[in-house]
Amino acid sequence: MTVTTRFAPSPTGTLHVGNVRTALHCWLLARKHGGRFLLRIDDTDLERSREEHVASIKADLTWLGLNWDGEERQSARFGLYEAQFQKLIAAGRVYRCYESAQELELKRKVLLGRGLPPIYDRAALMLSEEDHAAKAAAGETPHWRFLLDRDAQIEWTDGIRGPQHFDPAKMSDPVVRRGDGSWLYLLPSVIDDIAMGVTDVMRGEDHVSNTASQLQMFEALGAARPRFSHEALLVGTEGKLSKRLGSLGVAALRDEGIEPEALIALLARLGTSDPVDPALSAEDLAATFELSHFGRAPARFDEAELHRVNAAVVHRLPYARVAHLLPEGMGEAAWEAIRPNLEHIGEAADWWQVVTGSVTAPAFSDEDKAYLAQAESTLETTGADWPALTAALKETTGRKGKALFLPLRQALTGMDHGPDMAALLPLIGRDTALERLKRAGTH
Ligand code: GLU
Repeated sequence: MTVTTRFAPSPTGTLHVGNVRTALHCWLLARKHGGRFLLRIDDTDLERSREEHVASIKADLTWLGLNWDGEERQSARFGLYEAQFQKLIAAGRVYRCYESAQELELKRKVLLGRGLPPIYDRAALMLSEEDHAAKAAAGETPHWRFLLDRDAQIEWTDGIRGPQHFDPAKMSDPVVRRGDGSWLYLLPSVIDDIAMGVTDVMRGEDHVSNTASQLQMFEALGAARPRFSHEALLVGTEGKLSKRLGSLGVAALRDEGIEPEALIALLARLGTSDPVDPALSAEDLAATFELSHFGRAPARFDEAELHRVNAAVVHRLPYARVAHLLPEGMGEAAWEAIRPNLEHIGEAADWWQVVTGSVTAPAFSDEDKAYLAQAESTLETTGADWPALTAALKETTGRKGKALFLPLRQALTGMDHGPDMAALLPLIGRDTALERLKRAGTH
């Protein structure tokens, strides 16, 4: 069976880092097995779902390179849900209830007060057809619960959490449909996972108890269950889900100069026993992706680490990947000379300015001015060849180390630090270098 995973966001907002991580893991799992990665827009909540969020979710996945092999929308599938629901009615696996939220809350409090687990008491199961008819005549519409089979223990081997066990006698029958006929998430998700041939459901551990109910729904619909894996949630460096992390999205990171490769390199390995490695491509990460390497402890997301990974990624990006983002005229040699000094691609423009624009050198001592005048005449013969220039100057002036190199760098770039001069000087070129040395040596 082809491994098929799905990422199923609800378009009620933009993706945050935690969602992106889940999407990436589903994508990696599918790619590892040469399988399919589906995008399912969970828009059963018509009130809160927005088209603009669908667009931004897709734009974020596209920017990350997480291409999907099929796309579905739950709002286009209500007919299928209705048909499957009728089967569950016929099989007696869903039932009508009328309790209001307040009534349910009261029942909960009573049970908790008696030290009992706050499980729905199934009072609605006692209603006769006459009772239902009377409710309908009074204009009451039922909501529906899924009838858990309390005689069957719920067990599965989670891809990350290992053997799981739930006792349905300790669970409430979940509400699957509201009084207005709209669907809650649980049942449509199961119907879709069956219809789409999903083999692996990977999602956050906040869904573990949903899985327990959903496994019985797969069974009630006569379908085989997919494999389930629940990953530990993402937390900030302070050990909890901070407000910033909870809303931190792809757009904000992109605006800060984070590259998709960096976000992928970090999120692919966060929470696993594998080291974060900026040298690995998405394909490499897919090939080495192992559910068994995930731990159960929360995965800590550190923005400072993301920026470090980003710098390491930028240092490796080939020219072809960045050419369209570079200033006019900045070629491959310039990119390769400059990239080791960048944290973000955007900073390349600053260094290109150092190469081609005007630079302001510091005021030099008379001794350094004489040295720079000497450098100017030496460069007349060596040309823009840094090793030749510095070797000749070392020879003639006896200078070495910082005294040899720093005034030259300052005069030629206006900076105390920066890219390797051997790579930078040819980019600055002979004529500009001569001008800059002359200015520094005489002013
Ligand atoms: N729409 C659900 C969510 O965003 C999907 C959960 C799932 O993957 O089944 O939480």
